[in-house]
Amino acid sequence: MPSAASGYAAHSAQTPLAPFSFERRDPGPRDVAIDILFCGVCHSDLHTARSEWDGTLFPCVPGHEIVGRVTAVGGEVADLSPGDTVGVGCMVDSCRTCASCRDGEEQYCEGTGFVGTYNGDDPVMGGHTLGGYSDRIVVDRDFVLRVRHDEADLAAVAPLLCAGITTYSPLRHWKVGPGHKVGVVGLGGLGHMGVKIARAMGAEVVAFTTSPGKRDDALRLGAHDVVVSKDAEQMAAQANSFDFILNTVAASHDLDRFMRLLKRDGTMTLVGVPATPHPSPAIGELVFRRRQLAGSLIGGIAETQEMLDFCREYGLTADVEVIAPDRINEAFDRMERGDVKYRFVIDMAPLRAG
Ligand code: NAP
Ligand code: ZN
Ligand code: ZN
Repeated sequence: MPSAASGYAAHSAQTPLAPFSFERRDPGPRDVAIDILFCGVCHSDLHTARSEWDGTLFPCVPGHEIVGRVTAVGGEVADLSPGDTVGVGCMVDSCRTCASCRDGEEQYCEGTGFVGTYNGDDPVMGGHTLGGYSDRIVVDRDFVLRVRHDEADLAAVAPLLCAGITTYSPLRHWKVGPGHKVGVVGLGGLGHMGVKIARAMGAEVVAFTTSPGKRDDALRLGAHDVVVSKDAEQMAAQANSFDFILNTVAASHDLDRFMRLLKRDGTMTLVGVPATPHPSPAIGELVFRRRQLAGSLIGGIAETQEMLDFCREYGLTADVEVIAPDRINEAFDRMERGDVKYRFVIDMAPLRAG
């Protein structure tokens, strides 16, 4: 018997999110039922709710930066109990048998593809999955993370479930550490976590922003230097000096201006997924210094747990502005304008209060 849940949904790309009632499955033997305490607001939520990418299924309940409390577990779940604090990120299932799943890289599942926390095909209930802008969720144990941060930090932990892992994973994959000069482009939800994590990994970190007003914040977040990317002179001073650049920008822009900043053999990894394509990169910028342009998608489940534990060890959380659920449309508009420092997080308490 499914049971009632409530949240906020977009019913079309043109209409604001509105209160929405729906059903969650009862926990099966491998499931964990979770009361959602906080859910971060990722730019991907906005891209999806407004159908900026193809394929949004309506009604759409976004949200994949979930921190909550376990309320019940299925009979085969031995290592979680009611009362435990847990997280759920961008995925709630995958095929588990393909090469990527076996490697712990479920985000690249080439069997069925991973099941998104929202806008995925719901393997149990049918229809499509509904995400974390809601009071509760039921998720397979294998896709539930343990949260070990202090209780007072939980709102600021929620963004780690997407913004944290999406920046941690490429920084690890490209082996960023002491002796590396690393650029982080775009100081939004992802970028501000990228700065904190790259600094904790021991790299020299330079933040690139289009917003001169974010300069002091970038230094406070851990950047050694800040470059206003619209300033040609400041950009030229950084030419050929970076080992790695993490580009989190949510809009189409000229990539060559950043490719030029890489050393020979340097890599720029794109994690931003703009609604319209970037202008084609100049091939000369790549071939003459054997530079690489790459992409990266969130991170695997085991790596997400590793990231959460790394952030706890280094005292890292997101800088957040906590909002009530009924302020979500205002938050989307402000995120679109770049007016967020540096992640909105929805406190779900008003939803549970009815
Ligand atoms: P966000 O909080 O809105 O931050 C994006 C930042 O990009 C802005 O704060 C701004 O920083 C910069 N920016 C925005 N528009 C720009 C423009 N026209 N020109 C130059 N810079 C601009 O978004 P987010 O949540 O961090 O997400 C960033 C992107 O990553 C989105 O496209 C999202 O869908 C994608 N994403 C990808 C993955 C993945 O797995 N690959 C996971 C999560 C999100 P400044 O003010 O500092 O310039
Ligand atoms: Zn996200
Ligand atoms: Zn798979």
